[in-house]
Amino acid sequence: MKLYYKLALINSFTRILIIAGFLVFLPGLIYQAAITHVDSRLEKKETKVMHIINKKGLSEFIIIDTGATSSSDSTYADYTMFKENFVSLEPVKEDERDTIVTSQRDIEGDVIELRILKHYFQYDRTHWLLEIGESMAYVEDLNTVLRRIAFYILLTIVTLTVLIDLGITQYLLIPLRKIEAKLLATRRPEKFDFSPLKTTTNDFSYLDRTIGDMMHKIQDAFNIEKEFIANVSHELLTPISILQTRLENMLAAGNLNEEVEMKVIESQNTLGRLKQIIRSLLLISQIENNQAPKEDSANIPELLKEVASEIEIRLSEKNIKLELSLGEDFTFKPCNRSLLFTMFFNLVNNAIKYNKPNGTIYISCAKKEHTIEVAVKDTGIGIAPENIQSIFYRFKKFNASGEESYGLGLPMVKTIANFHNAEIKVESEQGKGSTFTVIFNIA
Ligand code: ADP
Repeated sequence: MKLYYKLALINSFTRILIIAGFLVFLPGLIYQAAITHVDSRLEKKETKVMHIINKKGLSEFIIIDTGATSSSDSTYADYTMFKENFVSLEPVKEDERDTIVTSQRDIEGDVIELRILKHYFQYDRTHWLLEIGESMAYVEDLNTVLRRIAFYILLTIVTLTVLIDLGITQYLLIPLRKIEAKLLATRRPEKFDFSPLKTTTNDFSYLDRTIGDMMHKIQDAFNIEKEFIANVSHELLTPISILQTRLENMLAAGNLNEEVEMKVIESQNTLGRLKQIIRSLLLISQIENNQAPKEDSANIPELLKEVASEIEIRLSEKNIKLELSLGEDFTFKPCNRSLLFTMFFNLVNNAIKYNKPNGTIYISCAKKEHTIEVAVKDTGIGIAPENIQSIFYRFKKFNASGEESYGLGLPMVKTIANFHNAEIKVESEQGKGSTFTVIFNIA
């Protein structure tokens, strides 16, 4: 997963934790805030009522109960404007401490849950209890409104911080993207953009320098290896040719006995194989050193037909069927036609070598929007998944077919494909067969 997405995920995760924390604690806090708000309203009302009582006397509030029990101590007031606003005044035996409680009261026949402030005071040498209440429905309404507001504020803050975080992360990771782009554009170490990365983040400039140093080292190692292979191959070809000529002369003299003659012929074959290996190495090294020309244009389907006719005899020897599906003619340029021939030949040659008797080979060529895809498919022994990675390495071979094998066919295919900026895809299933697809970029 990309670093940017990981950071974004971590950020979102921490935000979710914060929201979860808030969602757990916030309802309690908001309810408490609503209660505190209502309590402070009650205290204000109490101050107002006491102010009126002190100024105008109790008569403002008292509705004299004229019932049958007028002689009893039932002189009290019950002043209710709305069911939500409850004010009650009644005489009591003695003062108690003022409190605020949640309790139920019967108002005009309805039992209503109220938040009630109880205030005790003396008036005309009588103890009075003043109760001022607010309906709990009001507390609930307030609670709902506060919750909604808190939720929207929380959502806005979280969204804003997530967006700001994403923007900052994106900005901070720009140098990393540039390094990534440099590496993606580098097909060969020498093509690496060695110009220093402009950034104020030390870690990224250090990373850029380190990659640059490594590219230099890889480039040096590559050059040494290429030079060595080219020189050794070149130097070896001459003595091999001399030996071959000598052996030919010995055979031509005709004075060898049969046993010696057989050995000379075997030595000639060994020298022939050695020469083939050296030629392959030399060709690979020439292509890698950009010493091969690339000025031809090649009609790919036609080229594939030429490869097919070249291997016709080998196909009939092994009783292998060939099916071609080449589509419309297409010319690819600039290219090296003979190298492309060698590349396709090696792939088809392997498809024969590693096929099963009476097997089939399918060669197809398809022109897509930005690519030409040439696929060579066989019904052969297939390649073990653990070996697929290394089949393009030089001298790597997992050959169980008993046929002549040097482990240089696929490295050459890869080198020629690279030379033409083409990609190679391998799909294989053991016992069922393999498909090698060369993808040319024509965009
Ligand atoms: P060589 O064929 O001379 O051994 P290559 O470089 O062409 O060398 O191939 C390397 C190895 O990849 C082979 O030894 C073989 O194990 C495997 N291989 C290549 N092509 C195929 C194929 N079409 N089917 C199965 N195995 C293959």
